[in-house]
Amino acid sequence: TSGTATGDALTRTTCGYCGVGCTLDVLTSAGAVTAVLPARDGSVNRGHACVKGRFAHGYLTSPERLTQPLVRRDGRLEPTGWDEALDRVADGLRAAVVAGGPDAVAAISSARATNEENYLVQKFMRVAIGTNNVDNCSRLCHSPSAAGLTASFGLSGGTDSFDDAERADCLLVVGANPVEAHPVVGARLLQGALRGASLVVVDPRAVGLAEHADVHLRPRPGTNVALFHGLAHVLLAEGLTDSDFLRERATGLPELTELLADYPPDRVADITGVPAADLITAARLYGRAELPAIFYGLGVTEHLHGTDGVRALSNLAILRGAVGTGRGFGVNPLRGQNNVQGASDMGALPDVLPGYGKVTDAAVRARAREVWGVPVPQRPGLRIPEMFTAARDGRLRALWIIGEDVCATDPDTSQVARALDACPLVVCSELFLSQTARHADVVLPVASWLEKDGTFVNFDRRFQRVRPAVPPPDQARTDFAVVHALAGVLGVDLGCPTPADALAECARLAPVFGGISHDRLDREGAVPWPCPGPDRPGEATLYRERFATPDGRAHLSAAPYLPPGEQPDAAYPLVLVTGRRWAHYNSGSMTRRGGNLSLDPADVLDLHADDAARYGLRDGAPVTVESRHGRARLIARVGEQVAPGQVFCSFHFPASGVNSLTSGHADTVTSCPEYKVTAVRVGAP
Ligand code: SF4
Repeated sequence: TSGTATGDALTRTTCGYCGVGCTLDVLTSAGAVTAVLPARDGSVNRGHACVKGRFAHGYLTSPERLTQPLVRRDGRLEPTGWDEALDRVADGLRAAVVAGGPDAVAAISSARATNEENYLVQKFMRVAIGTNNVDNCSRLCHSPSAAGLTASFGLSGGTDSFDDAERADCLLVVGANPVEAHPVVGARLLQGALRGASLVVVDPRAVGLAEHADVHLRPRPGTNVALFHGLAHVLLAEGLTDSDFLRERATGLPELTELLADYPPDRVADITGVPAADLITAARLYGRAELPAIFYGLGVTEHLHGTDGVRALSNLAILRGAVGTGRGFGVNPLRGQNNVQGASDMGALPDVLPGYGKVTDAAVRARAREVWGVPVPQRPGLRIPEMFTAARDGRLRALWIIGEDVCATDPDTSQVARALDACPLVVCSELFLSQTARHADVVLPVASWLEKDGTFVNFDRRFQRVRPAVPPPDQARTDFAVVHALAGVLGVDLGCPTPADALAECARLAPVFGGISHDRLDREGAVPWPCPGPDRPGEATLYRERFATPDGRAHLSAAPYLPPGEQPDAAYPLVLVTGRRWAHYNSGSMTRRGGNLSLDPADVLDLHADDAARYGLRDGAPVTVESRHGRARLIARVGEQVAPGQVFCSFHFPASGVNSLTSGHADTVTSCPEYKVTAVRVGAP
């Protein structure tokens, strides 16, 4: 931060909205943000930013901002001081442990929080409470990426740097709408296409990039795995594979070859609705390119078989030898949230410690014991959906939710609310009195990303600094300070008193982060992991020598296509897909409190003109959407963006009840909800 005698100051930080990780210069005057400017020397954004990062900061001074702790008395949440609030939390945690042991306590950490805060939360749970019951919201979006990429290649992250992938001559963009959800990357992908790279878009909707695509494949929602197998079938059938790479660096080809015999283009067309000729064209574009790259989003992961989808997509890069060889730019997830990569990197997950060492691995636990000085529990903890089940059946007696509005954003929200009401202690760390906070026993007011110190990790594994531009309002504190204070009340010293100390401790514990520190990031701006030492540059491109799997090879997957959890039928004839829009972010708690609301004032239900006519709906008219799980009220928008038989809306306006519609179906490997396929019916209210 640099300042002037008049009180004006400029602070360089990293955007707290999406996972692109734009570097921003925040101008402040007299302690208030006056403007946010994209940094021309920003590692990823190079002078660009989108409508969220630049303009959505009005929430900082919203009169609805929580500025004091709240505790529930006689059924009502009432203001109090930090001492009483933390005592109430500590008493509740002790009571939960006495009643049910350490595993009766759980925490949901946050992809909006810094790495250092996530590190401290998971350390608190493991050291102060003695449980692995800690998870983060990657469970609801990219946990299938973590599982799938790890199984295929060995590490839980995208395989390449976005800077390198800009040189790609074929861009395969799957289940993502980066023009709206990751606008700076969306613009760079578009520039790539305009420069001459072929562009293949795979998405049921006519998303922004599709109009510039050489081929736009529109599979029925839930049929990705069949589609990817169909593309792989063509690669094999037409000899568009790299046999040297497959022989020397991959495994699983015989099993996959046998499976792919069942996925000729005609059969895949029957399953997916994608014409066989288009499938073949897309496979040839990818297979014949010199430097192909794959980018994908939640349209791949948020499915009953999301992990299978990530692996089937990874098969394409392996068959083509386009990963770890310099002859292509691998497989790269577009992360939705600013620090969803970092929250998982820091071990805010129930089965791994910082750096992804498994809690079941004795050597990993021994290393943690060396650094932390206490034993680490061996049994993997609960995932987020399992936490709610455990609360409903009485096994979970205390739940700390940090920066996640689970009653608005998790699927089948009525069941989530039931779980919170059944849990004897619910603590929420929040900016606003969210739908979830209304169910809490204690609400802790916390700082936002413009008010804290630390680091984020973006979608291509770059660590970047986060710096406070303004102080938190009134009594609000950073999550880092709150975790330390609560540990203190419980009589536990977590060590690492500053965020810089926390990252340094994490770097000692996890060799992949060994060369990353606040000092270095202050000097260099961005450093990707793995970075095992301070004299090492960090590996922007992975697997040049060998894959990080136990045998050093890339692993092809031969999992068959299986249908989604819900199918349309006579009672619920349409398929609802949810996703993001350009002006808002997630539950909208920040972007709806400021000027962005005027850009996009209400959620709409996109539906095709044929369906509008069939169900008697007009453009701009109110519409009721019903599923087997709940009901929502939206405004109809009639157009061509969605295919007949499908409808689309965002999750930025939870009051409409969108996530009361979504089902409890979840990825069979990671429990990531199947947000992308819900059978619904629509009608006039
Ligand atoms: Fe950049 Fe994403 Fe922030 Fe927009 S929301 S400024 S694309 S990091």
